[in-house]
Amino acid sequence: MTEDVVTPSHFIRQLISKDIAAGRYPDGIATRFPPEPNGYLHIGHAKSICLNFGVAQEFGGACFLRFDDTNPDRESPEFVESIQQDVRWLGFDWEDRLRHASDYFPQLFDFAVGLIEGGNAYVCDLSADEIRTTRGTLTSPGSNSPFRDRSPEENLELFNKMRAGEYEDGSRVLRARIDMASPNLHLRDPTLYRIRRQTHHNTGDAWCIYPMYDFTHPLSDAIEGVTHSLCTLEFEDNRALYDWVLEHVSPPSRPYQTEFSRLSLEYTVVSKRLLTLLVSRGVVSGWDDPRMPTLSGMRRRGFPPEAIVDFCSRIGVTRNQQHVEISVLENCVREALNPTAPRAFGVLRPLRVVIENYPENEEEFLEAQNHPNDPSLGVREVPFCREIFIEQDDFMEDPPGKFFRLAPGREVRLRYAYLVTCTSIIHDENGNVSEVRCTYDPETKGGNTPDGRKVKGTIHWVSAKHSLNAQVRLYQPIFKDPNPKFGSDTELEQILNPNSCETIDNCKLEPSLGDAEIGRPIQLERLGYFCVDPSSTNRESVLNRTVSLRDTWARVKTK
Ligand code: ATP
Ligand code: MG
Repeated sequence: MTEDVVTPSHFIRQLISKDIAAGRYPDGIATRFPPEPNGYLHIGHAKSICLNFGVAQEFGGACFLRFDDTNPDRESPEFVESIQQDVRWLGFDWEDRLRHASDYFPQLFDFAVGLIEGGNAYVCDLSADEIRTTRGTLTSPGSNSPFRDRSPEENLELFNKMRAGEYEDGSRVLRARIDMASPNLHLRDPTLYRIRRQTHHNTGDAWCIYPMYDFTHPLSDAIEGVTHSLCTLEFEDNRALYDWVLEHVSPPSRPYQTEFSRLSLEYTVVSKRLLTLLVSRGVVSGWDDPRMPTLSGMRRRGFPPEAIVDFCSRIGVTRNQQHVEISVLENCVREALNPTAPRAFGVLRPLRVVIENYPENEEEFLEAQNHPNDPSLGVREVPFCREIFIEQDDFMEDPPGKFFRLAPGREVRLRYAYLVTCTSIIHDENGNVSEVRCTYDPETKGGNTPDGRKVKGTIHWVSAKHSLNAQVRLYQPIFKDPNPKFGSDTELEQILNPNSCETIDNCKLEPSLGDAEIGRPIQLERLGYFCVDPSSTNRESVLNRTVSLRDTWARVKTK
């Protein structure tokens, strides 16, 4: 059942309300979601997307989708494509506000020239290592670069030559001239531009110098007219530099940065670096492996986008560390699917049942509801005949008293069909039950008992003759530990859950599932929500379990 969810307020909403009330943004507010196209989006990004697009919508403002593409060696058009697909899938629309930081390279270059001319930036010939070692520590100041006092004219000439490709990669950088003794390490003459001969997916070979994040970000915000630049807490110390940059150029507008905490989810990782590792080591089948916390993985697994948006709204936005239990997300998925997913029958581990008093060569079609609480989803016809499959679990040769499913001499209801009573068992050469023989009561069509007799157990089934073959994949978390830790010497194998994907072959599905749409979840009654995987073929469907069921209509708890 869905509860009414009241969208909780949070400090960023309050901040924006206050700014608006104070009349600071007569033209409306603007935000941006600024992914670096160096991987696929994950659930942590969803939080940022919902926040940025969400507040813009709520306050009648605009939200930009901006690719923060200043590191050509790690970025690719594949990632640019997938990011757009994922943002759209979540239900957000950037309209005409798709931007690339690389669109601004010419303007950024001019801003850098302005800094040089004002004596606020210099070309430094120290190597990356030397810059690091002269930077000082949290407790000791850094030392000035010997190139710090170059004249603006000399700096300008050198910077133009950097741009013209006259120097080797890494031989020089442009640095801000701030304060090598600042208690904030980010203000110790940070690098603004580096030389990097690398073809860029957007600008090709037009540039051999690329601006750094801390320079690009505030200026991209200013160029777009972003008012509230919302980012995660690890950038808190960068804020001073963000402000410094804006105060030392003449920006077209003045954005302000506000930080919130990152989302992390139990039993998984939300870091593109680590997710890239899972993909490149072949631990998963790709970025969209249904076990991945990526939006594409969740889509393939059958998570509806509304569930992810709902999840982001429930977890809220704060500055406290946020390590959320996986059950919170799974509950959002269940709540989204329960009212909408059509029901169907499937048997994961089939046991053949022969109904001895049902005529051979006869078959009939029984009416089954597509949803127990929503008649508007209609009914379907499920074929029934002399031989059916039930779950192996739903039969016990020597059951305890409280076992209400099928057992020798006991009667059980086949959902929407008939009541059957087990009359005998056939064993294979290893002594395992290979077939069960039953009789059915023709008076109980539809599972009704006109004589009012009580039957406690109701089980699902599929017709042996009509059923479709399927492979079903059941998922568990990808890591063993709720808070997986990666050290430099950690072997992935030590921390991975070896059972994260259980594949079951020879499953049987009711024939209506032959038309099931890829990625659109259905509920296999008593088993969970599932959706067809794109790898399915005409001969065999592949089903991903989206999420298990908490509650079932069966009176019996399975396992
Ligand atoms: P990663 O560590 O996965 O590489 P990132 O921050 O480098 O993440 P970006 O592509 O730069 O990835 O992220 C785009 C936006 O999404 C940024 O504003 C970032 O703050 C936000 N974001 C990334 N991860 C999370 C997260 N776990 N929770 C909330 N917001 C996030
Ligand atoms: Mg980043």
